[in-house]
Amino acid sequence: MKKHSLSKKLFSQAKKVIPGGVNSPVRAFRAVGGNPLFIEKAKGSRIFDVDGNSYIDYVLSWGPMILGHAHPRVVAALKKATEKGTSYGAPTSLEIELAELVLKVYPAMDKVRMVNSGTEATMSAIRVARGFTGRDKVVKFEGCYHGHADGLLVKAGSGATTFGVPDSPGVPKSYAQNTITLPYNDIPALTRMVEKEWRKIACVIIEPVVGNIGCVLPKPGFLEALRKLTRKHGIVLIFDEVMTGFRVSFGGAQAYYGIKPDMTCLGKVIGGGLPVGAYGGKKEIMSMVSPEGPVYQAGTLSGNPLAMTAGIETIKELLRPGLYAAMEKRSAMLEEGLKDAAKRAGAKTRFYRAGSMFCTYFTDTDVRDYGTAKKADTGKFSRFFTGMLERGINLAPSQFEAGFMSLAHTEKDIDATVTAAYEAIKKI
Ligand SMILES: *Cc1c(COP(=O)(O)O)cnc(C)c1O
Repeated sequence: MKKHSLSKKLFSQAKKVIPGGVNSPVRAFRAVGGNPLFIEKAKGSRIFDVDGNSYIDYVLSWGPMILGHAHPRVVAALKKATEKGTSYGAPTSLEIELAELVLKVYPAMDKVRMVNSGTEATMSAIRVARGFTGRDKVVKFEGCYHGHADGLLVKAGSGATTFGVPDSPGVPKSYAQNTITLPYNDIPALTRMVEKEWRKIACVIIEPVVGNIGCVLPKPGFLEALRKLTRKHGIVLIFDEVMTGFRVSFGGAQAYYGIKPDMTCLGKVIGGGLPVGAYGGKKEIMSMVSPEGPVYQAGTLSGNPLAMTAGIETIKELLRPGLYAAMEKRSAMLEEGLKDAAKRAGAKTRFYRAGSMFCTYFTDTDVRDYGTAKKADTGKFSRFFTGMLERGINLAPSQFEAGFMSLAHTEKDIDATVTAAYEAIKKI
């Protein structure tokens, strides 16, 4: 058995000063039992805990570390940037450089505003969409997570689903009333609602691949129908690509599925491991944003030089030819290996993947929305999770989270993961 005594000790200490001992709820191991690991360092595909254990990491800080941990290029640039001061509260050329890089890869956006988290990005995008349309209502889909802003914690995924509070206390009814939720992948329900209510609907926000209840793919025609309906009725279509951006493909889900949203939210990968979010869209929409327009949105540390540097270096590295093809190849290898391991071990599972994000559900029902995702056996997942951790594989501590590959994961890592998965599933 792996030793976790130092992690355990730190967790008791943390719980005295931090709610639940963690600064983000999904980090706690509540859904799977046991104590969270306290981390000492990470490098490449590996993460090391304070007790000296090492793990192949498929959490990757919940998505951002697509180059692998502590990538030399990012680390070197950050060291240099730090020497020049860490924040000025005044414009720098770094902000232009990252904006230009992002706009080149996401041509649906004419302009982009940097913020400090994915939550800020979605919250601000919705404000802008409301200002632009003069309408109040927001449509979201069950199980999609768009950060923790009030009006979006309605039937939300991620930790909200893991802990059974998709509708959070503390959100006034008056806020939640402006949020309409619909089942994902249900074109008739979407059409009925939009045709009836469109005069009040400012925007539809969606995770084009739902990573916050595992990995749910849009069925053929769903995103197309959504694009058609929203265009017809002047509703702003917001793709929340905080997770899928630079992840399911270089150009995100919008390139992968060939759909052009009106606004896009980014985060995670574009910060290269530092706190960053971004939202952007068509010129006429983004010209609503202060100081160009009347919709207020601001940030003391927004666009700060360290975050911009990590983002720029990450995207520039990703621009090198062949990297996504290599990652796709290894992701497919992991997919084949994990499917085969489950089959050999005699478990009923469903596996889904888009680019380098994936999920294994312990279920024998196809997963296509929140309801079918919730049918997965979380007890079995917990035993799988614990078995994997014991064998040196770090997965997200919930059935309702995606796993991520990085460019640093090798074929050897994948082989070790598949072997561990077979043994862990066999023991369930
Ligand atoms: C992670 C995530 C967010 C929230 O980003 P934070 O940086 O955690 O605030 C929003 N939307 C999606 C799709 C995400 O995966």
